[in-house]
Amino acid sequence: MGRVDGKVALVTGGATGLGEADTRLLAKEGASVIITTRKKVEQGQAVVEEIRKAGGEATFLQLDVSKDDDWKRVMNEVVKKYGKLNIIVNNAGISVVKNVEETSLSDWNAVMDINSTGVFLGTKYGIETMKNSGEPCSIVNISSVEVHINEPDFFAYNAAKGAVRSITRTAAIHCCEAGYNIRVNAIYPGYIYTPMLDGEARDYGLTSEQYLAQLAEKYCPIGHVGEPIDIAYAVLYLASDESKFVTGADFIIDGGIAAK
Ligand code: NAD
Repeated sequence: MGRVDGKVALVTGGATGLGEADTRLLAKEGASVIITTRKKVEQGQAVVEEIRKAGGEATFLQLDVSKDDDWKRVMNEVVKKYGKLNIIVNNAGISVVKNVEETSLSDWNAVMDINSTGVFLGTKYGIETMKNSGEPCSIVNISSVEVHINEPDFFAYNAAKGAVRSITRTAAIHCCEAGYNIRVNAIYPGYIYTPMLDGEARDYGLTSEQYLAQLAEKYCPIGHVGEPIDIAYAVLYLASDESKFVTGADFIIDGGIAAK
């Protein structure tokens, strides 16, 4: 028996990196998964095909997390197809490598639109869709260890991920007070090797190997950067009923840097 058998899960930015690992693990553990992406349609559809070939249930839907109308359409489609939604992983995000002096208003707005507004909308429409389901539901928001370590080169990113922490805690308490069977938690990944880090390496003028070595030395007391599956197992725990007493909580998974 799978750890999320019978549940319906939606993962934003689910075609690459952490989101891809989440969708594959949730599907392997019995959930029907909806993989959503803004641009990476072919990659999303390919992951769906692989999950189906392995005997799982998956659907692809296009969703720009910063667009209110996209969320309304996607929620309607999910309920039409599966009749319910139990899990949302608000994972989609972008990073911009700029400090406070370098950050323009358009950089700031671009990061906020996706990393904060996207999580707000996913949490809002998640609650709206889940609250009358009569089943245990879980929202998992992906923040970042940057909220704890404040690396100056990620100014807008860190601010947006700080908002995710407040969104998570405030929504979690709201759901408790409203009597909804919905838990809301946040994960704070440390440095995990995904396409996002390849992009950051390019911004620094480094190869990915050089950047990973630098990150391992500076930000990973455990000695190496993480893998997407390191985060996916925490997503699985928070998505499943194993975590039924956990809400408004912070899960730091970072190879030790926040403890330093
Ligand atoms: P990634 O670039 O592989 O994944 C991010 C995904 O979000 C991409 O598939 C991208 O297409 C999608 N996306 C971007 N804008 C979108 C939008 N408007 N609507 C829908 N999808 C959109 O990188 P990743 O490392 O897997 O990042 C996943 C999440 O984890 C992000 O929120 C990131 O900030 C967070 N995170 C990553 C790390 C790390 O070290 N990799 C550390 C801390 C937090």
